[in-house]
Amino acid sequence: MSRPVLKVEHLKKYYPIRKGAFSREKAVVKACDDVSFELCAGETLGIVGESGCGKTTTIQSVIRLIEPTGGRILLNGQDFRAMRGPELKQARQKLKLIFQDPYSSLNPRMTVKEIIAEPLEIAGVCSNRAGRDRRVLETMEQVGLDPSYVNRYPHEFSGGQRQRIGIARAIVLRPDVVICDEPVSALDVSIQAKIINLLRQFQRELNLAYIFISHDLGVVRHIADRVLVMYLGRVVEEGESKELFANPLHPYTKALLDSVPRMDADGKPAALQGDVPSPANPPSGCLFHTRCPYAQKICAETAPELREHQMGHKCACHFVDRLPSKGE
Ligand code: SF4
Repeated sequence: MSRPVLKVEHLKKYYPIRKGAFSREKAVVKACDDVSFELCAGETLGIVGESGCGKTTTIQSVIRLIEPTGGRILLNGQDFRAMRGPELKQARQKLKLIFQDPYSSLNPRMTVKEIIAEPLEIAGVCSNRAGRDRRVLETMEQVGLDPSYVNRYPHEFSGGQRQRIGIARAIVLRPDVVICDEPVSALDVSIQAKIINLLRQFQRELNLAYIFISHDLGVVRHIADRVLVMYLGRVVEEGESKELFANPLHPYTKALLDSVPRMDADGKPAALQGDVPSPANPPSGCLFHTRCPYAQKICAETAPELREHQMGHKCACHFVDRLPSKGE
């Protein structure tokens, strides 16, 4: 296998909080706790879980939109967390983000040309105007936007077209890794497939690595090679996409799959009781024990480790070998 373009080891993002309004006692919210994964060129890693499970904090920490509390991030073998100044600016060209909401992620006062050209200007690529304009027009064509619309503003486009502008902005610098944060969840179902197909086309053409965040398991199943399932900031299951969807091990993953396509508007699985507990006051032991139908005494006392149960298929559950398998 080729060397990973991105390697994340034991990533943590903790937020200190007071235990109460009048208390001096401090606590921490572990929004992302001990998350590790690798990503190779041309590969897609899906990260799934309900809202509030730490998906977005994890990717924001990976690209240092927020500074991680601990862990290592290697980008093309280089220590990304240690980078500063021009070196960091240079490395950031290799990591790009496509946002969830194409309505709010584009500056309404900028034309499409200015939006797509902005990363080139910040990175100091194509210093002459003619070269930059050519690159913008080429990229518009690549994402299926009519180049004659180059001087239009975001409000003049449909939702799907705006997401194409967001994709153009992300790929114009030819990054190695593109992080897609729920990129189709704000779009009509009829448009979603077109955007997913476009992302897959670029992956083939440019050998891009994707991290694909979603609460929609149907979409992740379609696009991801490997999947991480997160619950309250921790990875509870990890595996090859085909294997994980065919043979889910963790009760949380099973509940998520049982809920497809019955997620409600907040991305809460219909097959699960209750809400995700507050990360400010997480359950003891296994974080999932307050909602798990198989919980035993030990589950409230001891946190299960993420261990490999089949080749490349890891799960954090004390009773993984004794739970009913899919369909039972
Ligand atoms: Fe459920 Fe216990 Fe497994 Fe946690 S460790 S998922 S509570 S059975």
